[in-house]
Amino acid sequence: MSDAQQVIADAIRRHRLIDYWPSELDRLQKTRLKRECDCGWTSPERDCTWTDHPTHLAEMIDATLGGLTRESINKPEFRETGVMLPNPMIGDLDLIPERRLYFIPSVRWVSGWTPEERSEK
Ligand SMILES: [Zn+2]
Repeated sequence: MSDAQQVIADAIRRHRLIDYWPSELDRLQKTRLKRECDCGWTSPERDCTWTDHPTHLAEMIDATLGGLTRESINKPEFRETGVMLPNPMIGDLDLIPERRLYFIPSVRWVSGWTPEERSEK
């Protein structure tokens, strides 16, 4: 398991969704079953549900990883142009493809996370 996978797995373990009865009377009458995250988080508008919790969990994983942001870069890469050129090393009859350096736009996810700054969120 990679370091990133371990960090994500730890965050998921700290934010499991649990069901509980708020009181003994609720448990006996089997009413008002409440649901919340292990950390105590509940949905601000209603009991924590299966649809709300994934958003909270995603926020916690993102925070644990130091906050992911997109970074745009121009990645240098040699590519064939399709133009054939004479090869002076082996004679005029053999041709080699022309290669040029291109800068290919690319987007990737970047984190500010470091092991020293590891959060317990
Ligand atoms: Zn939580």
